[in-house]
Amino acid sequence: MDFLLLFLKECRFRSFFLEKIDIKSWNEKELTEKIIEMKLPKFRAKQIYEWLHQKSAESFADMTNIGKKLQEQLDEIFVIRNVEIVRKQKSKIDGTAKYLFKLHDGEYIEAVLMQYHHGYSICISTQVGCKMGCTFCATGKGGFFRNLSASEMLAQIQMAQKDESVRVSNIVLMGMGEPLDNYENVLRFLELVSGDNGMNIGMRHISLSTCGIVDKIYDLAERKLQLTLSISLHAPNDEIRGQTMPINKKWNISELLKACRYYTNQTSRRISFEYAMIDGVNDSDEAARELSQRLKGIIAHVNLIPVNPVTETGFQKSSIARQKRFVRILESSGISATVRRTLGADIDASCGQLRGKFDKEECN
Ligand code: SAH
Ligand code: SF4
Repeated sequence: MDFLLLFLKECRFRSFFLEKIDIKSWNEKELTEKIIEMKLPKFRAKQIYEWLHQKSAESFADMTNIGKKLQEQLDEIFVIRNVEIVRKQKSKIDGTAKYLFKLHDGEYIEAVLMQYHHGYSICISTQVGCKMGCTFCATGKGGFFRNLSASEMLAQIQMAQKDESVRVSNIVLMGMGEPLDNYENVLRFLELVSGDNGMNIGMRHISLSTCGIVDKIYDLAERKLQLTLSISLHAPNDEIRGQTMPINKKWNISELLKACRYYTNQTSRRISFEYAMIDGVNDSDEAARELSQRLKGIIAHVNLIPVNPVTETGFQKSSIARQKRFVRILESSGISATVRRTLGADIDASCGQLRGKFDKEECN
């Protein structure tokens, strides 16, 4: 009898302390296997999956057609990872909405919802912070805390959609964090978000931006996904890149561009190169000429972004005349280039800035 009591107590203790399974990071096959193991009819898995991915259910109680008993059973084993809006800024100029989300463990991340003529696009975070330490980047300055799960990436989209009553048609993995440093979870997110019974946002509507994690670029190329790869290049040579992007010490520009060539050969997709123009650092005529030489032969587009001055770096935006001249030099060498339109200029819409500001205000 004593043994039985002890056993029951142990079970209660375990279920209290054991972490619940993050259900929204599971694919439909995994969920179906679990439902069969629970001796429930298979169609329940489809219903639950649709509640999670298409109807953005925030709790099992929201799943009105599965019955109370199953709702309770699920609640014992699983958890639905949601995000909470802590702060929102909306641009008066163009309607861009910037969110500061709180995660279940009290960490903060950012996402930006933008309206274009072809629909809504969302820029989401893939990590809390970032390890890569780029000197011009607010996120990089704050250090690294943890990876996001696939469900936390989905939840950013779902929460923004709910809040603004819109449907997102494009996703950019360009918020806080380095997506290829959280590779497994990002791949899982891509599978879930593009799936037929999920949000069904096709790979051609998804962009992934990386500072240049070369081994993962090769792996992505092998997978032949149809997403758009953006490379944060920001410099025409190792000397300049090495000053601002520590990753360049691990893989230099030649190694990075070799991987990019391989990627375009495997996928036939054009690569987008991000280039933050910093006054007096990487914006000379010589830099433009060197850049065009290096990109020759790659199906590429260069996105020039006037650097967003982050406090303490001392970096300033290149002048408009400089930006225009830089574009002209690239184009005259046959490299397509544009200066990116700034959205949400009145709301710190550059990632890492709102979180940084929030931290400072919280600390004061
Ligand atoms: N870690 C990934 C994706 C997140 S950063 C990457 O580095 O690509 C998203 C983009 O914002 C990158 O192109 C990054 O280089 C750029 N960025 C970061 N700080 C910036 C700043 N202060 N001004 C302009 N672009 C910046
Ligand atoms: Fe990380 Fe990208 Fe910022 Fe570099 S630019 S620190 S890789 S988030």
